Amino acid sequence: MTFNPDADVSGNTARRRGRGAVVAGAGGVGLLGIIALIAGPLLGIDLTGLLGGGATGGGTEPAGGSVIEDCLTGEDANENVDCRVAASQLALDGYWEDHVEGYRPPQLIIVDGATSTACGTASNAVGPFYCPPEETVYIDPTFFDLMQQQFGASAGDLAQLYIVGHEWGHHIQYTTGVMDAYPNNGTGPDSNGVRIELQADCYAGAWIGQMTEEKDPDGVPYLQEPTEAEITDALNAANTVGDDNIQEQSSGSVNPESFTHGSSDQRQGWFASGYKYGLDVCADPLTAAPGEL
Ligand SMILES: [Zn+2]
Repeated sequence: MTFNPDADVSGNTARRRGRGAVVAGAGGVGLLGIIALIAGPLLGIDLTGLLGGGATGGGTEPAGGSVIEDCLTGEDANENVDCRVAASQLALDGYWEDHVEGYRPPQLIIVDGATSTACGTASNAVGPFYCPPEETVYIDPTFFDLMQQQFGASAGDLAQLYIVGHEWGHHIQYTTGVMDAYPNNGTGPDSNGVRIELQADCYAGAWIGQMTEEKDPDGVPYLQEPTEAEITDALNAANTVGDDNIQEQSSGSVNPESFTHGSSDQRQGWFASGYKYGLDVCADPLTAAPGEL
């Protein structure tokens, strides 16, 4: 249980499901997309839609879709993963409004099946990602089931919020100019890409460390103080999505020169630093010496 059962999460107007045609492409900043690209076949994730190079038949309904039903209270968010992801944006937007001047919320699309985006296809096989030109976070919550089944992660409620918070972090990076200042310069253990990803982990940790501060219109905090077990679970998720762990699972060996997101230790470490010390330390992944990343 992560949300306060009594919290009013009905004020979330942006939630909707995306559903539509499958179009191949790339360009989003995914937390976990790399899993699908590297480890997908081994782990049994179906990449046909991604690798086939085009639309895969009948789904021509444009992105848009329907409101998530029965997503009114924190209790609904605790019980329904779609509602949980949708409701988390209330707490995320509140947090970032407090910390970024002129904050502009991203759009959140809860993907149901697959949907085409300016950054390529969104689906559970691709994993959650942020699409900069659309300023949109795409998440198919069934991805969390894949994390459990394919990667052995428990992927509990707080771990799911860590992932949403990470994608929100990319929106902050895009809208505050960090992405422009640290453009893609290839892979590797101290590449800009890894630094950006580790900062997004730090941002997620910073938010979770203060996530009880955002309240509904009646003053009820949206979220409850996380338990030790929930924090451990979120750290486990960060461990699972480390490049070394993914490489080890997919090929049996680790090649830091192809790192895109950082090692398991780094991802857990920056999440934990953000959680413990707050946003003040989250500029550090951008500038830290390679040995201190
Ligand atoms: Zn990311």
